[in-house]
Amino acid sequence: MKMRRLNFWRRRQFTGAKDLAMVFAIAGLMFAGVPEPAVASNAPGQAAGAGGNGGYASEHQMPKVAVIIDDFGNNMKGTEEAMSLPIKLTVAVMPFLPTSKEDAIEAHKRGHDVLVHLPMEPRHGKPQWLGPGAVLSSLSNEEIHKRVEAAVDAVPYAVGINNHMGSRITGDERIMRVVLGVCKERGLFFVDSKTNYHSIVGQTAQQMGLPRVENHIFLDDIHTSSHVARQLKLAAQLASEQNYCITIGHVGVHGKETAAGIRSGLPDLKNRVQFVGISDLVKEKWKWSPLLTLP
Ligand SMILES: [Zn+2]
Repeated sequence: MKMRRLNFWRRRQFTGAKDLAMVFAIAGLMFAGVPEPAVASNAPGQAAGAGGNGGYASEHQMPKVAVIIDDFGNNMKGTEEAMSLPIKLTVAVMPFLPTSKEDAIEAHKRGHDVLVHLPMEPRHGKPQWLGPGAVLSSLSNEEIHKRVEAAVDAVPYAVGINNHMGSRITGDERIMRVVLGVCKERGLFFVDSKTNYHSIVGQTAQQMGLPRVENHIFLDDIHTSSHVARQLKLAAQLASEQNYCITIGHVGVHGKETAAGIRSGLPDLKNRVQFVGISDLVKEKWKWSPLLTLP
């Protein structure tokens, strides 16, 4: 099973060039929209409750797919195309950028879930390229706490946080305990984008009584709409095996291709899986509800 699963993910080495491209995307110097490469590989800790394969009588019994779209907040290409997709999405918005608030409010208005897309130091590349408010390994616990709180305050309607880049930070237990501590205080959960094969986020979250929520597959590691549609199909297949799947795409220079790929993949999948927001999944699978009452 494990071997089979591994085939789903395009395990690729982290490269400085990709990292750099992402940094520039956020710095607004160019719109790259390149994720840190997918290294997601752990099968989710919690397989399926009831359910299983075949014969779905209602959408409640269907496998669930949560599509997260990262990198909103900087008026990125593909913003409108993604927002207007005919499924419930999870819109991950970077804090402190020109359209952070606007994008979060718009996503909420359209019925999507909102996450804070928190910039975190990667293993490669210069930390200062991450932009304002990033979580860096050089910071004190107190400063990290302050930055995470500020980021949460900067993104209205957020139900959780996921990491932008962060291959260094998600392997650092000291820092992740502070970040997850803020999640706990604010009634949020953390979604590990899995940009780091050796991430300690999931196990640390579990130890702290938070749900272990992790990306399973990136949609747009290759920037064509046909690839995105294929990845979405893989996500659906994975969901039918393990009952749910979390998948991540991006707005940015290739944002329109990502949105188009998702759109083109939907007709085939709509009767096989249910597309849900990440909060729906967290409530159902982990029996965990955000403590905050959203305004
Ligand atoms: Zn990102």
